Amino acid sequence: TKPPVVVTVTGAAGTIGYAALFRVAAGAMLGRDQPVVLRLLELPGAISAAEGIAMELDDCALPQLAAVEIFDDPRAAFDGVNQVLLIGAKPRSKGMERADLLSANASIFATQGAALNEVAAPDVRVTVVGNPANTNAAIAARHAPDIPRERFSALTRLDHNRAIAQLSHRAGVPVTEISGVTIWGNHSATQYPDIFHARAGETTGAELARDREWLVDDFIPTVAQRGSAIIAARGASSAASAANGTIDHVQTWALGTPGDSWTSAAIVSPGAYGVPEGLVCSFPVRSDGTDWQIVEGLEINEFSRARIDASVAELEAEIAAVDALATR
Ligand code: NDP
Repeated sequence: TKPPVVVTVTGAAGTIGYAALFRVAAGAMLGRDQPVVLRLLELPGAISAAEGIAMELDDCALPQLAAVEIFDDPRAAFDGVNQVLLIGAKPRSKGMERADLLSANASIFATQGAALNEVAAPDVRVTVVGNPANTNAAIAARHAPDIPRERFSALTRLDHNRAIAQLSHRAGVPVTEISGVTIWGNHSATQYPDIFHARAGETTGAELARDREWLVDDFIPTVAQRGSAIIAARGASSAASAANGTIDHVQTWALGTPGDSWTSAAIVSPGAYGVPEGLVCSFPVRSDGTDWQIVEGLEINEFSRARIDASVAELEAEIAAVDALATR
């Protein structure tokens, strides 16, 4: 049998963590033949909840689950880690200013980036889910100068999957017949789900996009504001679908994209598609099972350009706000 992969999950006792852990432990992320050691990192106040989850994981008697360990110290939780899911983040509380939220999270992700830099395994891969995910990933990467920055990515796979589901309904074809969708920009309401290169069975995305009313007033806002719609309907934010997106993201990164297909992930921009270098921005990406590669050469029409630029401007503003706070 293969040696186990060490997977650390932060915010493990949160709702997304709870929805993700059992599937990771059952082999949905890295394969049913891949043993995993699960490390749960939580705030001291949530350690008891994490212990309860560890008991439940134990009670599943999962063949791939080599061990479950619980930590409240990032340095210990990241020691020798191969796959990191940074899910825990400070949520916006009532009356909290945006700057306070950015600053609270910047400090969490700076600490975690520095700890990863010191103790993670040489092949470590880091996936950021906690919001503001793109900027949190940029900060973690900055504080881990010895880890290649390509090893940090942030989740836009849930947005990508949401776009696929909406296209499937629109075109009346199964999700397996949808390809070529891209989420550009920030994991926020400014994200741009691009279907101009997509296919939905026999129909091209460009054909579907000719109905501008549907594209602008229905498809794009439905995908970009799906999180709020779920909170309104369910009374709680998306958890199982966010966990599923996280698992899909890591699975694609670790096992690769089949054929010439692509997916979406937020990665450190090398300056591609006019996105300033260093921003963590969602792009069309492929994986060879080791690293993400941006799908090059897609034609960006005027409509898409304006939407991408707007989301990139928001990413620049987030980083600028964090930098301004740091020098305050
Ligand atoms: P959730 O598990 O519901 O969410 C965790 C994070 O994922 C939030 O930042 C949330 O953002 C984000 N997120 C990203 N995409 C989505 C999506 N599509 N839908 C919903 N959320 C999304 O939060 P809980 O409050 O239940 O749990 C958080 C846990 O993290 C707690 O157990 C807490 O103790 C822990 N924590 C750990 C920290 C650490 O390790 N240093 C720091 C802070 C918290 P959004 O808020 O925008 O929904």
